[in-house]
Amino acid sequence: MTAIPPLDPPARLLMGPGPISAYPSVLRAMSAPLVGQYDPFMTGAMSDTQELYRQVWATENDATLLVDGTSRAGIEAALVSLVRPGDRVLVPVFGRFGHLLAEIAERALAEVHRIEVEWGQVVPVSLIEEAILRVKPHVLALVQGDTSTTMNQPLDEVGAICERHGVLFYTDATASLGGNPFEADAWGVDAATAGLQKCLGGPSGSAPITLSDRAVEAIRSRKRIEAGIREEGDESASDFVRSNYFDLGMILDYWGPRRLNHHTEATSMLYAARECARVLLAEGRDAVIERHRLSGAAMLAGVEGLGLTVFGDVAHKMHNVVAVEIPDGVPGDAARGALLDDFGIEIGTSFGPLHGRVWRIGTMGYNARKDTVLTTLAALEAVLRRFGASVPAGGGVEAASEVYSGAAG
Ligand SMILES: *Cc1c(COP(=O)(O)O)cnc(C)c1O
Repeated sequence: MTAIPPLDPPARLLMGPGPISAYPSVLRAMSAPLVGQYDPFMTGAMSDTQELYRQVWATENDATLLVDGTSRAGIEAALVSLVRPGDRVLVPVFGRFGHLLAEIAERALAEVHRIEVEWGQVVPVSLIEEAILRVKPHVLALVQGDTSTTMNQPLDEVGAICERHGVLFYTDATASLGGNPFEADAWGVDAATAGLQKCLGGPSGSAPITLSDRAVEAIRSRKRIEAGIREEGDESASDFVRSNYFDLGMILDYWGPRRLNHHTEATSMLYAARECARVLLAEGRDAVIERHRLSGAAMLAGVEGLGLTVFGDVAHKMHNVVAVEIPDGVPGDAARGALLDDFGIEIGTSFGPLHGRVWRIGTMGYNARKDTVLTTLAALEAVLRRFGASVPAGGGVEAASEVYSGAAG
């Protein structure tokens, strides 16, 4: 039997829609020594992380913490904890992740109502309000940035509408947080979740979450069940959260002052999440958003400079990802393969109605930089040419460089 060699991943530049190459300091933080679950250092690191993420989310919510697991662990925790079986949940769908929210709400036995718009558009706020009046949901579940279409749903007016109609407002900000504006308190968001592997510049595996007092109240109003012991008056079996791991009531008690034992906090992921927020805030929240805006604009100009067509309503595009139509005659998967094999650069394929039609190119977190944008455009030009597309020589790099020098001047 041949010995399995030590782990030695290839050097890759991850320029897809996520995951992305992590900040070097995040990888360093993950290799820091482990401490015990209730070591004062550990509980201190947890409190620091809460404080850092309050600033990332722009909130004063006490209930700001991490759910252990990838982004959908956060989504699932929010929905199973906020939604009782039979509750109505309204899900506006403008891409793949809207369908995911609807599916998770269905698994939580909600009565799910979807409204859908064509991929490449966002949902008009008037349509959301009209549906709220018609459906009278307990929860509105709305994606902010949907990487499947690159669209960034405007949220700033949605919270006020929800509050007027007594609806809890949950949003999945996984793809958008850190690279696009997000204002949990100013926008009246009741629950929001994210992951690290997009604009926050870390690996997947930790899901930051923030909950308003209203959301915490809704979660606390559910009956408790712990180690098989049920609270009095729980005859209605539907009242306790049907998951132990994702029961936010228990997770809140674990992160709160009582530090009641629940799961064992994933120490290395906590270090990663803490460092993602720390580097973001050290650079400055607005500065990081501006860096994403600038590199996103440069990548957009660059692909257009190569003669490619951008998919979707560009006015509502997220800063951190662009979808480009694959030119006629170019084999999409073979071209992506050549980018990876010959240049070590990964870009993304697409799902559903866009499969085989567009590539998705990300500029997020650590990789929202001039050198990564120009390198990717130069490599893309070479690959397009190799597969027979006629592209303007240097057109991508030149157009992107102009965006950067415009910003510098
Ligand atoms: C990328 C993404 C996710 C990813 O979920 P994981 O569980 O981390 O794979 C979730 N929601 C949205 C909107 C995303 O863009």
